[in-house]
Amino acid sequence: MIPRIQLTELPTPVQELPRLSKKLGGPTLAIKRDDLTGLALGGNKTRKLEYLLADAQGQQADILLTTGAAQSNHCRQTAAAASRCGFKCKLVLAGDPPAEYSGNLTLDFLLGADIVWTGQEDRDTVLEREFQRAGNQGHTPYLIPYGGSNSTGAFAYYQAVRELERQAGNNFPDWIVFATSSGGTQAGLVAGAAAWDLDLKVLGISVDERADVMQSKVTALANQVLEKARMSGVINEKDILVDDEYLGAGYGNPGIKEVEAIRLFAREEGLILDPVYTGRAAGGLIDLIDQGYFEKNERVLFWHTGGTPAVFADRYRGVLLGG
Ligand SMILES: *Cc1c(COP(=O)(O)O)cnc(C)c1O
Repeated sequence: MIPRIQLTELPTPVQELPRLSKKLGGPTLAIKRDDLTGLALGGNKTRKLEYLLADAQGQQADILLTTGAAQSNHCRQTAAAASRCGFKCKLVLAGDPPAEYSGNLTLDFLLGADIVWTGQEDRDTVLEREFQRAGNQGHTPYLIPYGGSNSTGAFAYYQAVRELERQAGNNFPDWIVFATSSGGTQAGLVAGAAAWDLDLKVLGISVDERADVMQSKVTALANQVLEKARMSGVINEKDILVDDEYLGAGYGNPGIKEVEAIRLFAREEGLILDPVYTGRAAGGLIDLIDQGYFEKNERVLFWHTGGTPAVFADRYRGVLLGG
């Protein structure tokens, strides 16, 4: 048994999207609501943190350190998990502090995380230094990698495939489509689909890296997950489906495709997507449907990975409300 601390109620819901499916005129669409994992406004990192924090407890750690962008959902969920389990938490955030906190940063503050800004320095250099410092101060630090994406974190999404299988029964999707970034979510999903020999295509819409970079990262991690789960089988790079056509102006710079997708999901289904990850993935999904990429009789499950607080970040107000 791989140790887990419960931070969320599973399974997260699967919901049909009849109005959106009809409007887009392509495959049948459904959504998996990992924005409802519930820990400090939810998201995909909560599943990973259930295993990462169990590991940290096993190592008698007392402080968690991790890193991300200023509006990192991963950092916010890590801060919340730390509070919930009695760890201290230090977040190394890229760049300089904004004039005012908003979105995820407001939550990081409320959750009591200690925030260190990297300024011009390399993220991992600062993280390593803070890790050493915590040790020197008599703490037992535990390092959570970027996005929670090592085999311990990614194992959570291997388990999520099992969850989906039980939940979906005969209505199992042909495709899963979602936002991929540090690769842990995709690696776990791919490992689960391979381990149980499912007829399932796992398509990651990249939000910040070229497809070949993502493919090699996800392949390595997915094989580590299989090993951890003591399952046989080998995953090859060519089996990893990543679409990097929707990078637009780069990470955290949403454009018209993202904004249109966010509005469409909101107005057809009352669902809130985020400007960085799920908005970009949904923009890609809509474009792929328009191109006839999926068969009409197929079932596509959009995996909502969270990110909701970024909707309230100052830096995205203009683009979300823009004409
Ligand atoms: C981190 C994140 C992702 C990407 O997941 P990875 O496992 O890092 O690839 C997608 N959506 C949201 C909202 C996220 O916060």
